[in-house]
Amino acid sequence: MRIQLLPSTFDSQGHATLEQRLTCFLIDERVAVDAGSIALALNSEQRENVRDIIVTHPHMDHIASLPIFIDDLFPTLRSPVRVYATPEVIQLLDRDIFNWNVYPRFSELKNDYGPVMEYVPIPAGKEFKIAHLTVTAVAVNHIVPTIGLIVSDGKSTVAFSSDTSETEEFWNVINRSKGINAILIEASFPDSMAKLAEVSRHFTPASLERELRKLNHNGLDILAVHMKPAYREMIIDELKALKIPGLGVMEPGKIYNW
Ligand SMILES: [Zn+2]
Ligand SMILES: [Zn+2]
Repeated sequence: MRIQLLPSTFDSQGHATLEQRLTCFLIDERVAVDAGSIALALNSEQRENVRDIIVTHPHMDHIASLPIFIDDLFPTLRSPVRVYATPEVIQLLDRDIFNWNVYPRFSELKNDYGPVMEYVPIPAGKEFKIAHLTVTAVAVNHIVPTIGLIVSDGKSTVAFSSDTSETEEFWNVINRSKGINAILIEASFPDSMAKLAEVSRHFTPASLERELRKLNHNGLDILAVHMKPAYREMIIDELKALKIPGLGVMEPGKIYNW
């Protein structure tokens, strides 16, 4: 499986910067997990191939450019952009974003070829297929309804925590799966901001360390994502100090193969 954390900012030469401000992972050039930077960072070929987008939760850093992505493609779409989310999240997107005030209700609009956007409700806890992938969505512990994902292409399996704090079922599903190649897990705040992390339901390196004790697999890559840009260096130093085997930091723009 080929996974890229799309960049969300670029320097004056147009090169991706290391800070992650938005969340959007691209899997095998065709399925997106979240859509923060989807309209900003896809190349033209990827833009033509991506029609399946899983939205883990409706926070702005995860959906910021989703409306713009659909708007861009509006005249040329020959099949709708499918937005996969839990029924609660679909309701929130429909009420708060695609509501004719913030942006058009694309789910009601058609171009010359047919509908341009389709909501696809996904069940929590049950396997479902998206393109060539098998996905299990698991509710995690964030401040709004949020899902983590365990994604397999039949050869390798990668888990996405999305935004979360201490949680159980996500680890149960990971521990039950036969093999796991990588976990992309959030580490939003440095240890000195544990209080804020707690109320906003995010991890710090220290709480992530406690959480990782629930993992029964070893020999896999554990890559930290979602570090608040202002504290990135501090969080990286704290993560390194943990000396957890396989724990690293995911770099925006870089292609990872598992
Ligand atoms: Zn969030
Ligand atoms: Zn977030």
